[in-house]
Amino acid sequence: MNVEKRINKRKKSFNPNLFNPICRIRIYIYTFATFLILYLLSLIFVIHQNRYFMATKINHIGFVLKQIQNKEVVEESKIIYNVGLNSDYGDDSSITKFVNNKISFYNLSYIPNNLVGISSDYIEDIKWNQTLRNEANLALQQLAKDFFDTFWEKIILVSAYRSYDYQVWIKIRWCNDMFCAKPWFSEHQTGLAVDLWEASTKEQFLSNSKLVSYFKWMQENAYKYGFHNTYQKWIEIDWYVVEPWHWRYLGIDLAKYLYDNNITFAEYYKNSK
Ligand SMILES: [Zn+2]
Repeated sequence: MNVEKRINKRKKSFNPNLFNPICRIRIYIYTFATFLILYLLSLIFVIHQNRYFMATKINHIGFVLKQIQNKEVVEESKIIYNVGLNSDYGDDSSITKFVNNKISFYNLSYIPNNLVGISSDYIEDIKWNQTLRNEANLALQQLAKDFFDTFWEKIILVSAYRSYDYQVWIKIRWCNDMFCAKPWFSEHQTGLAVDLWEASTKEQFLSNSKLVSYFKWMQENAYKYGFHNTYQKWIEIDWYVVEPWHWRYLGIDLAKYLYDNNITFAEYYKNSK
């Protein structure tokens, strides 16, 4: 096919003449398709950046679902309160409040009252608007600065404070109890826990040599800032799978005590009860 024929064919296939009805319909379709694609792309962007917002919305829309959840919460809380009231696991707002799969918050939908934003020159918040309790944030900022001085890399903050509503949403979407806390049992609800660097399993995390070197640094230094790697000894001891990315602020005294004695937060509670 020579060039002239090709041009003629193209002209025939699309001649932008607004007085031609077929051509007009095509223009409408192209315009509509363009807007549709733009709309879908912006929708994907918004969903990605506002998962918490979407989670809340989904909870509102899923009215029936919420009713069932509430019933579950009430039923489970009766059992948990019995456990919780007989032992002292700390007030909900205590820096050393203990929560796990069996021990919940006293107020299931507890919200810390001094949450602050986290982003800084040394921390990259991948969700842009995450928060922590002020004391945990101050400690994390110092830790991240010293980490930066060592590696010349920002700490990647994957997850920080997660509200009760957000935990409900995660729970519905993905997890069983060993991988994700039930909504009212998560350390993230304390506003004192962070997940650093992205990985979905321990194996995936530890197969990355860069992350391994970061983790080793954290193991040797995080306690100096008051942080503890809560889940490091498997389900039998910590009631969770190993999570090298999960760090909980406990204050320097307790974090140092756990480090010096090579015990986890769960062991500390089991031994002291
Ligand atoms: Zn975590």
